[in-house]
Order: sequence, then C-alpha cells, then structure tokens
Amino acid sequence: MSDPVVLISEEEIQTRVGELAEQISQDYADAGEIVLVGVLKGSFIFLADLARRLAIPRTIEFIAVSSYGTGSRSSGAVRLVMDVRGNIENKHVLIVEDIVDTGHTLKYLMGLMESHRPASVRACALVRKAERAEVDVEVKYLGFDIGEQWVVGYGLDYAEQNRTLPYIGVVSPDD
Ligand code: 5GP
Repeated sequence: MSDPVVLISEEEIQTRVGELAEQISQDYADAGEIVLVGVLKGSFIFLADLARRLAIPRTIEFIAVSSYGTGSRSSGAVRLVMDVRGNIENKHVLIVEDIVDTGHTLKYLMGLMESHRPASVRACALVRKAERAEVDVEVKYLGFDIGEQWVVGYGLDYAEQNRTLPYIGVVSPDD
C-alpha cells in the first residue's frame, strides 16, 4: 500500500486541538468537571491530546460501537459493543469522536448518553464529512470539515493500518 497523501498536517492538527481545548475549557469553566467519552477505537489519540490540554477538571470514559455494513460504507445501523462503565448521571458529558460521516453513529451515541441522564451532552469531533450528512446532529466542537475521501491517521484506520500517523491523510481503498 502506498503512503497516504497528507490532507491535514500534524502542525495543523495540534494547533486546532489546542484551540478546541481552550474553547471547551472556557465553555465549561463553571461546570465543575466534565466527562470525556471517547469513541473507540478511532478517537484514542485525539482524546489523549485534547484531554491533556484542557484547563478544567475532567474524567475519561470509553465507549465502543460498530456499524453494520461492509467496508468503508456505513449502513446507518449502529450496534453498542461497550457502554460507559462509570456513572455519568448528572455529569457534563462531552462525546469525543474521530470522524462524523453520515452522522448516524453520533446521533445514536447522543441518544445513548441521554439515557444515562447526564446534566448535559455535547459532541466534539476532529473531522466531519459535511457533504455526506444524512441526519441532523450538532457537533458543538469541530476540528475540520473535509470532503468525501476515506482518511487515515491520528487514530483513524483503513483495515486497522495507519492509526499512528501523526497527520491525517488520504488513501485510495484500491491500493
Ligand atoms: P457515520 O455513522 O457518521 O456514518 O460513521 C462514523 C464512523 O464511520 C466513524 O466513527 C468511523 O469509524 C467511520 N468512518 C467514516 N468515514 C471514515 C474515514 O474516512 N476514515 C475512517 N478511518 N473511518 C471512517
């Protein structure tokens, strides 16, 4: 497989993650504490960087989902693989997603989090493919809008490869 072509550089990502952390820290300054809920596996690097740059008290939870469908196409049906372990009732929850494509996964996760009766739920995503949106779901904190290409790196994979690249790049699924 050839190397991915850089779409968003390491420097651009780090700058944007710093900006997001600052904005989130300001918005939740009076909240006391927030719970970052990382969506496995793709968000693990973004979550780690974001969490360490926040200036407010935070705890970390993880959740795992898989979408029914084949290859790089999401079918819209989402299956819960692992729910949060800690009690998030009456807490301020920030879902941390790697990428929002059609929006079905995030919509499902917002509903799932609501069922735990938190004080609030918002979403943060590193990238979004705005043109592919099929459902209306608010991404309160967004890193970058991108086109329709399949992207890898900074946590994102193609067939489990390329997750640890420091940048976000584009691969051709035919490689
Ligand atoms: P949605 O439910 O929004 O259609 O899909 C979201 C999920 O699809 C993401 O959490 C991610 O797992 C996967 N996904 C969508 N587009 C990409 C992409 O370009 N690269 C990677 N690695 N995963 C993607």
